[in-house]
Amino acid sequence: MTTTITISGAGGQIGYALLFRIAAGDLLGPDERVRLRLLEIPQGIGAAEGAALELQDGAFGLLEHVEVTDDAAVGFDGCDLALLVGARPRGPGMERGDLLAANAGIFGPQGAAIAAHASSDVRVTVVGNPANTNALIASASADGVPAERFTALTRLDENRARAQLAQTLAAPVDTIRRVPIWGNHSATQFPDVSHATVAGRPVTEALEAIVGDVPAWLADTYIPRVAKRGAEIIQVRGSSSVASAANAALDHVRDWVHGTEDWTSAGVVSHGEYGVPAGLISSFPVRAVDGEWQIVDGLEVSEWAQARIDASVAELIEERDAVRALGLL
Ligand code: NDP
Repeated sequence: MTTTITISGAGGQIGYALLFRIAAGDLLGPDERVRLRLLEIPQGIGAAEGAALELQDGAFGLLEHVEVTDDAAVGFDGCDLALLVGARPRGPGMERGDLLAANAGIFGPQGAAIAAHASSDVRVTVVGNPANTNALIASASADGVPAERFTALTRLDENRARAQLAQTLAAPVDTIRRVPIWGNHSATQFPDVSHATVAGRPVTEALEAIVGDVPAWLADTYIPRVAKRGAEIIQVRGSSSVASAANAALDHVRDWVHGTEDWTSAGVVSHGEYGVPAGLISSFPVRAVDGEWQIVDGLEVSEWAQARIDASVAELIEERDAVRALGLL
């Protein structure tokens, strides 16, 4: 079997961090051959073509073919997995409405091209920001493709949330489970530790011995730290988090295709769960079963947690309404 994977913005930094790991089998495993389609805008074609030359020089046994194109019809032809990374960055003085409109001009046509050219069971993961609303726009433009096939990446937020707990608790990160991200991939996101466990023990109980006042630590230290981690990386590294974003995108798609052992987080379409209006693409605790994301339903959510979820969802509603007001949704 060969899987066709389309990466938009493939000439950019995250694209560069993704391509070689996919070709090496880090996404689908050592037995699955891949065909890569590198989609770019004309200004990005040179960078994508350069990456394609390097992919050739990697002599990857699993890599069957690489195509570089600025034509979405070619880029999404027969696409099984799409990683939509290319997005319009916020320029100086750019208002949020301008940013949303510019991205609607990218993600709307891409959604339509996916509907027209991709394979019938295509799975789409949006990385380019504002990821949730970009995914919503692409989905709305993809006639005939189920809304469940369009997702937004919040796995980096979850990975950061688990890593911060691991550091605080001095525990291996893989012993920390069930730390869902709720809402928007933005500063309003809510990393929720209320159901989290460390080696099977409630995280909140383990935290008490270390940080004392757990609710205060969560509100004043932990949640802001996770939400602002991207800015911290930029400050320390001098440029944005690229490898960890690419790594999280691979985690998301791998789990979607191969299934999860436990909960994880993904921006998926709401059917009204936890008071999130149906149709919005919001991050939830999810499981992947038989190639489909399922929202973990029926969790007990405290008043405090629900208020955090509602605040992030209010931002998603504002973004959706702003795009609607521009006649783009
Ligand atoms: P990056 O590859 O660094 O980032 C691409 C997108 O990922 C941005 O929207 C960025 O959001 C987002 N992102 C999500 N999570 C993270 C994270 N943790 N850290 C950093 N970014 C994150 O950008 P480049 O400018 O290097 O590359 C973008 C490429 O996309 C360019 O080559 C450009 O030509 C191309 N492009 C392609 C389009 C297309 O195929 N139609 C359309 C537009 C652009 P944020 O900006 O908020 O950090």
